[in-house]
Amino acid sequence: MTTSTDSSHTRVTLIGAGLAGSLLAIYLAKKGIKVDVYERRPDMRKVDISAGRSINMALSTRGIHGLKEVGIHDKIMAKAIPMKGRMMHSVEGKLSFHPYGKEEWEFINSISRAELNMALMNEAENYPDVNFHFNQKCTGFDVKNRELALYDETTDRETRLPVNTMIATDGASSAIRLEMTKRDRFNLSQHYLEHGYKELTIPPGADGEFLLEKHALHIWPRGTYMLIALPNLDGSFTCTLFFPFEGEFSFETLNTEEKVLSFFKAQFPDAVPLMPTLQEDFFANPTGSLVTIKCAPWFVEDKALLLGDAAHAIVPFFGQGMNCAFEDCTYLNHCIEKYGTDWQKIFPEYQSLRKANTDAIADMALENFIEMRDRVADAQFLLRKDVEFALEEKYPNRFIPRYSMVSFHRIPYATAYERGEIQEEILDELCQSIQSVDELDWQKADSLVQQRLPKVE
Ligand SMILES: Cc1cc2nc3c(=O)[nH]c(=O)nc-3n(C[C@H](O)[C@H](O)[C@H](O)COP(=O)(O)OP(=O)(O)OC[C@H]3O[C@@H](n4cnc5c(N)ncnc54)[C@H](O)[C@@H]3O)c2cc1C
Repeated sequence: MTTSTDSSHTRVTLIGAGLAGSLLAIYLAKKGIKVDVYERRPDMRKVDISAGRSINMALSTRGIHGLKEVGIHDKIMAKAIPMKGRMMHSVEGKLSFHPYGKEEWEFINSISRAELNMALMNEAENYPDVNFHFNQKCTGFDVKNRELALYDETTDRETRLPVNTMIATDGASSAIRLEMTKRDRFNLSQHYLEHGYKELTIPPGADGEFLLEKHALHIWPRGTYMLIALPNLDGSFTCTLFFPFEGEFSFETLNTEEKVLSFFKAQFPDAVPLMPTLQEDFFANPTGSLVTIKCAPWFVEDKALLLGDAAHAIVPFFGQGMNCAFEDCTYLNHCIEKYGTDWQKIFPEYQSLRKANTDAIADMALENFIEMRDRVADAQFLLRKDVEFALEEKYPNRFIPRYSMVSFHRIPYATAYERGEIQEEILDELCQSIQSVDELDWQKADSLVQQRLPKVE
């Protein structure tokens, strides 16, 4: 096992070879930094394991930017399926399609978590100075002595590893964050939703065809809960039910195959015939929980930094957790460009650039749950969407819908949040007495937008 005590500061130890850790390894290698990555799980390229959590996910502009910067964008996008909008499924089985943006290029992409993770690891390993160490679970970090504790489940062996600089990309349950909570004045807030999630499947048709529209993110919004489905390359869809843990209709009460089937037939009738293994999957697949974590400071001197979900886990309703973690890598890379490997300068600057923004996307993600499960089916909401697109068309540098600012631009999340609030107020004023976008008072719109929304930089 390699130790990481180079005095040159050009060796970095990463904990976690998930999405952020694997991308960061490439960024660092491109800067000539030697990287050792310690990962709890076996190598998913050799052993058939679940990549954990969601099977597929939405990749958008911020994540794509990171992939472009490290030169792996084309390879990844070849494995992605564009989703151009939301396909809403009513209880009666009526379909309505709502584009995500007004431009052709404004779409999000469905990508397999495992494929993406493996491609990033493969790319990282093209650099001779990147080494992955699998089955290495970090169990502690002695900050004073800069020493990591690692445990190998396959050999039942514990190791203590001296490290120089360490970056924790070990996800929402970060072992390094846990160590940091023992330090004086470490702030931590952790909030679990009362909803959990369960993944289910719509397999491909007999000839491998997609049984629902391929280029859409499907949503069955039902007020306090929802089902969504994202397409996979093999023609299948991965569905996710976001549902209360407890209550009248909940994971607790759907406790027999009959109850599951009758509930799905009543609520998602058009999905049921497409889900031949519904009841089996419902009881075989785990129920995941959803957490928002905010903490600070993210670093200890030049010794350790939290990045990605380890620093800021968010709920998945804006499809931004991974995109945000990739953007973390982009910002850290900028700081390295500015300060070389002077981590004492890099870490505080990195945190000051990111913290307000990751707090903002955490809050927006929570708000978006209500929008997705409830408001998207509402006529007022759809009218506001139409008005938003009309305003964006007329004032492209001033009025950009919040979803677009987050998903199709790299405007800092905190700015997107603030501008989004102002835009909501403008929409309130413009939409209160109209039924369709044709009735929009353009004079009023003009004065509100010019007065309240400065040009986006
Ligand atoms: C249901 C669901 C759907 C989602 N959908 C989307 C989406 O559509 N778009 C999007 O952008 N984001 C989405 N996300 C969020 C996204 O999954 C995360 O934000 C992203 O995975 C964060 O990357 P990460 O590398 O920080 O953490 P992870 O991907 O969780 O990687 C952490 C890695 O560290 C390893 N590890 C953990 N503990 C240790 C330890 N003690 N020692 C060594 N290794 C360790 C893990 O095995 C793992 O490999 C979703 C999340 C959920 C739960």
